[in-house]
Amino acid sequence: MDKFYYWLDGKEESFFPTASVLEISENNLDELKINGAKAWLDCLGKHTGRFVSVVPQESMGKIIIPEGLAWEFSKLKTEEGINKFANSYGLLGISTPGQAEINKVKLKRDLYSDSSYFIDLPIGQSDCEPIELWRFHIKQMQRILKLYEALISIHKGEMEESELEDKLLAVKEPIGGSCQILWWDGSWTGFTADEQEMEKEVDFLKLAQGLLALKVNSIGNQDIKMIPETIITGKPPLGFTIKEWKYTPHLIRAIYHDLWQVVSNNEPVHICENLNCKLPFKKVKRQKYCSNACKQEAFRIRKDPEKYGFTKEQVQ
Ligand SMILES: [Zn+2]
Repeated sequence: MDKFYYWLDGKEESFFPTASVLEISENNLDELKINGAKAWLDCLGKHTGRFVSVVPQESMGKIIIPEGLAWEFSKLKTEEGINKFANSYGLLGISTPGQAEINKVKLKRDLYSDSSYFIDLPIGQSDCEPIELWRFHIKQMQRILKLYEALISIHKGEMEESELEDKLLAVKEPIGGSCQILWWDGSWTGFTADEQEMEKEVDFLKLAQGLLALKVNSIGNQDIKMIPETIITGKPPLGFTIKEWKYTPHLIRAIYHDLWQVVSNNEPVHICENLNCKLPFKKVKRQKYCSNACKQEAFRIRKDPEKYGFTKEQVQ
């Protein structure tokens, strides 16, 4: 059994250190003694930063309900929200970068205008994670859920297949024989396609479907561990059955494992009607907004659209 574990069936007590948001700088670095903080700061080229950290230690062990974890994670917007989530579930589980990763990130920092340089960092143990890394992963989750929502809408006939291009995905000009596949906002999806493949007509639907499957599977379905338990039933032919209990040592896999359930069970998804949000969320009853804050913001926008940069037609 691993040192830390998150049960994916949810009934037993999981074991992991909870975390909270704090500021780490060169001034408190030695005093706090947080492993890996220096490596992360080096990675980001900063002397000080906001981190999610397991130091100071608060508590270990908790019963967590994995169902809904992906939705909850995708809705995090503020540092306060991230802090609350980390208080409940601990760190994501991205390894402290070694020298090779530090060099890679440093190099990529100049190539990307956003935090796409976090894409390939290995999953593993760490004592702290930069808040930028959290925001990157939250955004990734929002994008994947939006892609999922678009694919449902296309299948329902509520969205045109052609809208996938540019509204959701774009193909960048080829460099060295391959093209990067980008999200609508220009950030990298983490995938590239062969230039010659892309010269033919691009099938964006196939591209989107493949991207969704790969994204969800690469984190949510790898390195999931099992512990078998025999349950005595007294019934023939064996008199017992075997149940598998699944767990993962890393929160990020638990989150993606939940996303895998969402997608494979075809769970419905809705888009928040607040024009300033439009994030995917799981609807309860007749809910139109992803949160109370969005409900209030939408109300303010409806009252005075111009003030928020919208037209009267948009809010009708
Ligand atoms: Zn919203």
